Amino acid sequence: MSITVSDSFGRNVFNEATMRECLPKNVFRSLKKTLDGAQPLDPVTADVIANAMKDWAIAKGATHYCHWFQPMTGLTAEKHDAFISPTPDGRTIMEFSGKELIKGEPDASSFPSGGLRATFEARGYTAWDCTSPVFVKENGKNITLYIPSAFCSYTGDALDKKTPLLRSMDALNKQAVRVLRALGNTSSSRVTATMGPEQEYFLIDQEFYRKRLDLVLAGRTLFGAKPPRGQELEDHYFGSLHERVANFMNEVNNELWKLGVTAKTQHNEVAPAQYELAPVFSTVNVAADHNQVTMDTLQKVALHHGFVCLLHEKPFAGVNGSGKHNNWSMVTDDGINLLDPGDTPHDNMVFLVMLCAVVKAVDKNAMLLRASVANAGNEHRLGANEAPPAIVSVFLGDQLTDIFEQLAKGPAKSSKVGGQLKLGVSTLPPLPKDCTDRNRTSPFAFTGNKFEFRMVGSTQSVSGPSFVLNTIVADALCDIADELEKARDVKATAQNILQDIAVKHARILFNGDNYTAEWVAEAERRGLSNIRSTVESLKGIPSKENLALFSKHGVLSGQELKARTEILLEVYSRQINIEAQTMLSIAKRQILPASCEYSARLAAAVAAVSGVGGNAETQSKMLARVCELVTTLENGIGKLEEATAKAAATTGCEAHAESYAHDVLPAMGVVRAAADELEALVDAKLWPLPIYAEMLFLR
Ligand code: ADP
Ligand code: MG
Repeated sequence: MSITVSDSFGRNVFNEATMRECLPKNVFRSLKKTLDGAQPLDPVTADVIANAMKDWAIAKGATHYCHWFQPMTGLTAEKHDAFISPTPDGRTIMEFSGKELIKGEPDASSFPSGGLRATFEARGYTAWDCTSPVFVKENGKNITLYIPSAFCSYTGDALDKKTPLLRSMDALNKQAVRVLRALGNTSSSRVTATMGPEQEYFLIDQEFYRKRLDLVLAGRTLFGAKPPRGQELEDHYFGSLHERVANFMNEVNNELWKLGVTAKTQHNEVAPAQYELAPVFSTVNVAADHNQVTMDTLQKVALHHGFVCLLHEKPFAGVNGSGKHNNWSMVTDDGINLLDPGDTPHDNMVFLVMLCAVVKAVDKNAMLLRASVANAGNEHRLGANEAPPAIVSVFLGDQLTDIFEQLAKGPAKSSKVGGQLKLGVSTLPPLPKDCTDRNRTSPFAFTGNKFEFRMVGSTQSVSGPSFVLNTIVADALCDIADELEKARDVKATAQNILQDIAVKHARILFNGDNYTAEWVAEAERRGLSNIRSTVESLKGIPSKENLALFSKHGVLSGQELKARTEILLEVYSRQINIEAQTMLSIAKRQILPASCEYSARLAAAVAAVSGVGGNAETQSKMLARVCELVTTLENGIGKLEEATAKAAATTGCEAHAESYAHDVLPAMGVVRAAADELEALVDAKLWPLPIYAEMLFLR
């Protein structure tokens, strides 16, 4: 009998159904209260849960457990401990206590802390995030119980991506419930942010990857001439899956399903060798964990199929890079999606208030939202006519834009309807048409019953952009709740609030093509920010307004926010430095030698041909061109060495990062240009690196 997906789904997750089976009734009830946010977990309950968890995990072959957390590296971290506990008579029993479940004590000194911790101040804690279920993961023969955790320092400062996310979920819940109450909703008691992140990635053959130090060390190609064919035929997007890729996806899905990740959609993306995977949405902290598991699984499973999965935002110049589309909404505990417009959005007051709160939040905090997706990889995407520009705007579509415009004048009186679409083929039924078209170029688009934040980079943890989004919306809702709670006539006050937002924040709405130069000019006229540079964007994070925003809602203290900014800037510098050093190594040890060898060959050809009285004019021209480029490359290498030395010697994390952006990156451009020209001239048999055409098209 074959195992169906329904049988295997969540098989390795200690989920609610499993807990209900394994735990005594009173313990389960008590845990349920904690999960619903009503009370912290008490030690006795924790002990019983830990024991049941251990028995369940051991039955699945687990020997170890680990607190699994998300430090500021953007990756995940795990330290495994065996369940074994020696007995005095020389045997061992398998033990796992509530204390071990709830709290871990990793050494925090080797994770980035942005100055919050000195190296000698080593103690850090991990704390179980019981709202994200534990799971068992197989890694070769090693089977471990994973406990999703938050990570903080001895002093209680958040050192990870998850803690602020959980805090922001609390803030959003608090403010959204206040608004719901004020608007007369007495049935919902909790509001959670939901998230469905679409993940883009590339797959290339392992054989090529191993020959490219730039991919191995920096995750992207630092060299590579434009191939004869790129994505211009537009034939890859949604194309039929290559069999080897389909097999890979099949294994990815099966692995993810076992871990309770609801992998649902898969398809070819725009660039050759580019693909996408999307899960069904879930609570945002669970979605963040699942996205980390997904990235990890994509990379591991790729190796089983002779592929390497590249998650970098821009692995190849000249074709599209990879992003992550964060679909986001707010849902009540009794199942209401607060961003569902219903059939007549103009008279759906709760929806209108929520929608306007989001619009206000995005307009007011556009720079912060922009900064939440700023990293070295994404710098190559944003504004490069393949991803949204660095200008944040909101797409609402025809129907909601019309309502928004009505609101600016007073109560909205009507909603445009979609109607039916007739295809002109007698055998095809008329299709119900959506009220609104899609807009793929918008950075922040309303898509039916949720917003889609499309600027996020493919390597990024979804936690950062999500806690920013949760917090800014919580803040807008807080303003609204403050007014509604003191209003005598709630309906009239709500109407005034909507009108005020519709008037003041109309500038952030844009339904047109975000890739055009006209929009850049128009956005400037509207006073919208357009920060192309990563460093510039990051520098703005600890502004007075942002410090006040995060501390008001208990998401990050001033100190934590400043530390985070420092870490992000430092990571930027380090990444560019790695890229520059890798580039120098490849240029000096591979490209120069190959080019010199080729020039020697040409020189020999010139000598041989002219030696027998032949015309070596062409060979001489080729030789001259190669020698010229070799000189340009050599000079470029020298300049890049100077630039990296200068950047390395620059102190202060802002100036340090600025030097990498302004001195090192341009110098890298010069080296690349010369090398890419050489690639087009040098004998293919001598060229030391797999070229774009091979990596992108050979499967
Ligand atoms: P697209 O055509 O852009 O891929 P989909 O409808 O397939 O749009 O949805 C993309 C993602 O949005 C999926 O992960 C889906 O689960 C998620 N999503 C749908 N509804 C919500 C919601 N209410 N909150 C958060 N994410 C959602
Ligand atoms: Mg989408």
